[in-house]
Amino acid sequence: MTGAPPTTSPSQVPVGVDPNRPSIARIYDGFLGGKDHYEVDRAVMHKINEAVPEAVDIAKGNRGFLNRACRFLAGQSSIEQYLDCGSGLPTAENTHQIVQRSNPDARVVYVDNDPVVLAHGRALLEENENVHMVEADIFTPSAVLTNETVRRHIDFSQPLVLLHVGTLHHFEGDGGPDVMREYIDALAPGSYVVFSHFYDPQVPELTALAKRIEEILVHGPMGAGRFRTKDEILAMLPGLEIVKPNATTGPDLVACDEWWPDGPRLTPLSKAARCIAGIVARKP
Ligand code: SAM
Repeated sequence: MTGAPPTTSPSQVPVGVDPNRPSIARIYDGFLGGKDHYEVDRAVMHKINEAVPEAVDIAKGNRGFLNRACRFLAGQSSIEQYLDCGSGLPTAENTHQIVQRSNPDARVVYVDNDPVVLAHGRALLEENENVHMVEADIFTPSAVLTNETVRRHIDFSQPLVLLHVGTLHHFEGDGGPDVMREYIDALAPGSYVVFSHFYDPQVPELTALAKRIEEILVHGPMGAGRFRTKDEILAMLPGLEIVKPNATTGPDLVACDEWWPDGPRLTPLSKAARCIAGIVARKP
């Protein structure tokens, strides 16, 4: 992000938002080119850009992965229900727009706890009767799984697509596998999980880059943003079968940009783009 992005005026600040505290959702959206960020968010974005100028590739790679994974599952599975945890601010292409293109009857429940996401989400995302926005803490799975709106629109006896894209790296500590296990236990066989996470590929120059961003996120006002290793990430998907991530015979875990890209790469992947991993996995 360069230059001075437009500022959201105080009259547009949704109720309950503290514009003095940076928000994951607004910073991420800012990297994707969105406009709903405040001075505190821009200060964090500026620090990240100074430390890693190509950091924007992490956000873009992540969102591109989410879009392709949704298109893939909507086109190739017969699943009609999607639970999108930590859905973020409405952006150019949202889960329901992608999946309803293949199946207009597909149901999508978005879950987030950021007041700006909830305000904008309700205004912009709930555009048809099959799309709903829920406020809940996604790191307390029981709060999501027992939520009345979630239960009304998602039938857990049938396969569903659970999205946890760009979320668990904001969960501190080593409880991520327990959080995800609780979600996975609630899924019917044949369900899919779409998952992405900040990735430390354990290659010295990439680990160094990851640490530079982690330092800003974890030790700054955000307080969270961990780059985890392959083993740490795979431990969050217990009992799932990973869908082959591309046409090569390479590893199960790849950078988001390498997950079934739309075509051959015309330019090399940046180092930052290698530091976010994307996985689609199926519950047998
Ligand atoms: N999933 C979207 C994507 O990948 O494009 C957005 C990812 S954004 C980096 C992370 C989102 O998770 C933000 O919208 C943030 O508000 C939400 N989030 C973080 N912690 C949360 C929590 N405890 N409960 C609900 N949502 C949370």
